[in-house]
Amino acid sequence: MEKLLSYLNPIAQLGKPKRSFLYPLLVNIAICILSEIYTYNIAKDPLAVGGYIIFLNVAFIIYFSFRDGLLGGFTSVVITLLYYAYIMYTRHYTGKILTAGIDATISLGLVYSLLAGIIGFLKNTIDKFIEREANARSRLEAILDQLPTGIIISSPQGDIEFINKHTQKLFGKEVQKGIQIGNNTGHTSLQDGILVKVKDSPSVHVLTTGKKSKEKSFTFSYENGEKMYVTSHASPIKNKKGKIIAVASISHDVTAQRIQEQRKDDFINMTSHELKTPLTSVKVFTQVLQRKLEKTNDKEAIHIADRINTQLNKLTMLVGDLLDVTRMEKGKLKVVKEKFLVHELVSEIVEDLQLISEHTLVLHWTTKSYVFGDKERIRQVLTNLVTNAVKYSPGDEKIIIGSRKNKDMLEIYVQDFGIGIVDSEKRKIFERFYQVGEDSTYPGLGLGLYISSQIIKQHKGKMWVESEKEKGSTFWFSLPIYRSQ
Ligand code: ADP
Repeated sequence: MEKLLSYLNPIAQLGKPKRSFLYPLLVNIAICILSEIYTYNIAKDPLAVGGYIIFLNVAFIIYFSFRDGLLGGFTSVVITLLYYAYIMYTRHYTGKILTAGIDATISLGLVYSLLAGIIGFLKNTIDKFIEREANARSRLEAILDQLPTGIIISSPQGDIEFINKHTQKLFGKEVQKGIQIGNNTGHTSLQDGILVKVKDSPSVHVLTTGKKSKEKSFTFSYENGEKMYVTSHASPIKNKKGKIIAVASISHDVTAQRIQEQRKDDFINMTSHELKTPLTSVKVFTQVLQRKLEKTNDKEAIHIADRINTQLNKLTMLVGDLLDVTRMEKGKLKVVKEKFLVHELVSEIVEDLQLISEHTLVLHWTTKSYVFGDKERIRQVLTNLVTNAVKYSPGDEKIIIGSRKNKDMLEIYVQDFGIGIVDSEKRKIFERFYQVGEDSTYPGLGLGLYISSQIIKQHKGKMWVESEKEKGSTFWFSLPIYRSQ
């Protein structure tokens, strides 16, 4: 039934290249036969039904021009005109009536042809346009299928409209079109495979907020124990008026990258552990040596031992940083929290660092707050920020360390007037092993800020930077103020 209705419906035929000749031919002949039967057997007055027949003919010429284009329209016109000739012939028109009949047939023929021509042409043009659109779409889909990236396009309502081949490969199963993202009764989203909770899906984020999602990482565990790591993000596709017309979700298989990172982490972990023991021994031996040399009064030897000690301290810090990073990656960084006054800790740090720094460390401290945290880890963060400020403002004189209260948070800053950081680097400097520029003007591993920001995160605070190139940087971090209940 549905098929029949779709066959009869001219709109359903839009864009279909197949034109029927037989259907308009047979229907128009049938109309003529039925008209004849009606005229002679029911109405019994050939002149009275003329107007109805013309109306019927116009209706069918329009219908077939729209359904089958120029072919359908002109088939209807020809059959209709032949029928009119048949009428004139079988009714034995002569003289004036015949002339009037021929005139009417010619005039109607012209009107019918114009009608069939215009509508048929329109239909043919619409068909071509739809075909071109369809071709462009299949070309685009073919290109998207070739990409080594998973792509899912869904409607603004969340119905999946397109899934490229790589997505099927990623999720290892048939994801079907037409399925609604985020609307399944279970707690999983088809877009992201079986293990993803709907609220985590980037597409659901776009569907509910209308905004681009952040990149999310997902881990898929297979029955054979293997794992696949996928990153996904989704964006709204908008029309010129800014209305969302589709949602595109992009997924990448980052398993190889993750495995490599894992190997790198394992290697760093292993080597830093291996380095730690001999380093501790060397440090102890150096201290023994220093004490012995102090008794000899050999100034040169004492100086060399001091230099060894300084370098060993640097090395110990580097190894410590590497160990911290691997602990953080495994979520094993321990924090031992206690209640302490931050300004006391800051004064201690400033005092210690002032001894070894050529810059003047200026305290702009206006708060007296307790925080509940790991004092040694916070010391590590502040020491790192101050040593960075010293390192990245060579030739300058001053570094300011200050604080302010912001609601329940204590905000602490370290300000320098050195080389500064461009906007594009401000987020990246908090990543692991990230250093601005590739030259080795400033030595380091690019770990200090990563470790510091992770420590602050563990204290439920935030870390950020305000900076302008060549004008200096202010590194901020916040900590929740401790309030006794
Ligand atoms: P490292 O200093 O060991 O390279 P960090 O993680 O401490 O590693 O810093 C990362 C990068 O951030 C540095 O390489 C440097 O380019 C930039 N940076 C950090 N602190 C400052 C600062 N105070 N001024 C300018 N750039 C800075």
